[in-house]
Amino acid sequence: MPDYVTLREEWEGVLGRRRDLGQALSFWTSVLDGWRSWEAETVTPLPWSGAECRSRWRRGVPLMAEVEWDIAPEPFEELLGPMMERLAVGGAEDAQALRRFALAWDAGQVGPESLLPTSGKEGAAVLQGDAGLPATLTSFLAHAGLRPALEDLFSSVRDLPDGVWERGVCPWCGGMPGWGDLGEDGRRRLSCHLCGGGWTAPRLRCPFCETWHSGDMVRLLAQGAEEGYFVEACRSCRGYIKGVDRRQRWNAGSPLVEDWASPHLDLYATREGYWRETPSLVHLLPPEGDAAP
Ligand SMILES: [Zn+2]
Ligand SMILES: [Zn+2]
Repeated sequence: MPDYVTLREEWEGVLGRRRDLGQALSFWTSVLDGWRSWEAETVTPLPWSGAECRSRWRRGVPLMAEVEWDIAPEPFEELLGPMMERLAVGGAEDAQALRRFALAWDAGQVGPESLLPTSGKEGAAVLQGDAGLPATLTSFLAHAGLRPALEDLFSSVRDLPDGVWERGVCPWCGGMPGWGDLGEDGRRRLSCHLCGGGWTAPRLRCPFCETWHSGDMVRLLAQGAEEGYFVEACRSCRGYIKGVDRRQRWNAGSPLVEDWASPHLDLYATREGYWRETPSLVHLLPPEGDAAP
């Protein structure tokens, strides 16, 4: 069972330091509270051997794509419920889409597995089609609801040998990276907030469109960014990822906490015309011109 108590304490520290953003940041507090109360042993860890994992990684397949995940929906409702309530205040259309999602969930047409990035099956089709759930909302629900289960599922297969995985998505769940550090050794380390995975990746390659054109990756100089923090963006696909250089900031927090605590950098990158697929408070702001945090 991952240590959500410590993560929650770290978050409390951030809320104390970033009082200017406190109101907005409290959005994430209930997510962390939900994770902290997740019951251990809800999910059986994936029993695959190192060789079984490596054979998939070598083929460029995230493990989740080949997991038969037959799991009861009830434990997830505790995590999804509060997030749905918060997202529903975003507007009438969102509220309606979430209501359709809830109906489909209760009818068993969608379940936790439908929220996975690797889900190409019926559940995902219902989400997008019948329920008409916008991708942004799906992403928020997935990130709030799946983390403890996925972290338990992958708890015994986190050993990823160097050089085996070359794609930009998470080698475990197939999600997009949500944060990209430079480590003590100068290497880039991507983090997936969906399952809690972290892996080393080439520095000059865009994790979103996987382009190798070194000139395509640019560093945006965000106003208000403290030393060591950066935004890396791709001129080819316009995706961006935030990160911290841990050689300059040895005391930086966990990737998830650092990401959720820096929506001002997302606002900056968004205004520069870049996007991120993983959820950020910036996605919940009214269209440009109406408000700023
Ligand atoms: Zn992942
Ligand atoms: Zn790109």
